[in-house]
Amino acid sequence: MIQHHLTDEMIAAMAAGTLEAGWALGATTHLTMCSACRAGLHAFERIGGYFLECEVANDNLDEGWREMERRITESQWEEDPVTSSPRSEAEMFLPEPLATYVDRAGGLKWRFLGRGAAQMIVPTEDETTTVRLLKIPAGQPVPEHSHRGTELTLVLDGSFTDEVSTFGPGDVEIADGTLTHTPRATEGKDCICLAVTDAPLKFSSLHMRLFQRLFKI
Ligand SMILES: [Zn+2]
Repeated sequence: MIQHHLTDEMIAAMAAGTLEAGWALGATTHLTMCSACRAGLHAFERIGGYFLECEVANDNLDEGWREMERRITESQWEEDPVTSSPRSEAEMFLPEPLATYVDRAGGLKWRFLGRGAAQMIVPTEDETTTVRLLKIPAGQPVPEHSHRGTELTLVLDGSFTDEVSTFGPGDVEIADGTLTHTPRATEGKDCICLAVTDAPLKFSSLHMRLFQRLFKI
């Protein structure tokens, strides 16, 4: 059961097609896993479509608001008809469109970061963000850090806990400069995440700051 979702702003930007490719890859991979956010996206698309129609028809304003209200209310109850079938662990681990991006990059190639942690940079056409797959070994922490920009983390397999909550498969955490956290993978299973950032993380320890220069985290 997914507990942590995309923000409304992100879903609205998806519907409007204004999200840069890096964020869109993170958001769309979550949408593949989450019927609630898919329903939200359809609602925003309907509203967007409605505004376009309005522009053409230039209807009576009151009538227009009533119509929009009706559409929003309706879409809240409209679950996505496509329910995802049970997936194997391997498929669950790389949902679309992430799987296509990884294939295009020549398949899954982990680069080890030490202490069993590993990453793979996932190339996208977007130069404003960095997209990476991260593997955090069971029970291990990611060193404490805050953020210069925004970090979107989507859990694909396993789970982690930080100062905010526990995040399991499909959950999204969106962190910015106001959050300093030490995510720790849950015992018993490695945690595999997709992370999108638009600026380097700000590690608390000097050791990590030197290390990050090497690994471009
Ligand atoms: Zn969601």
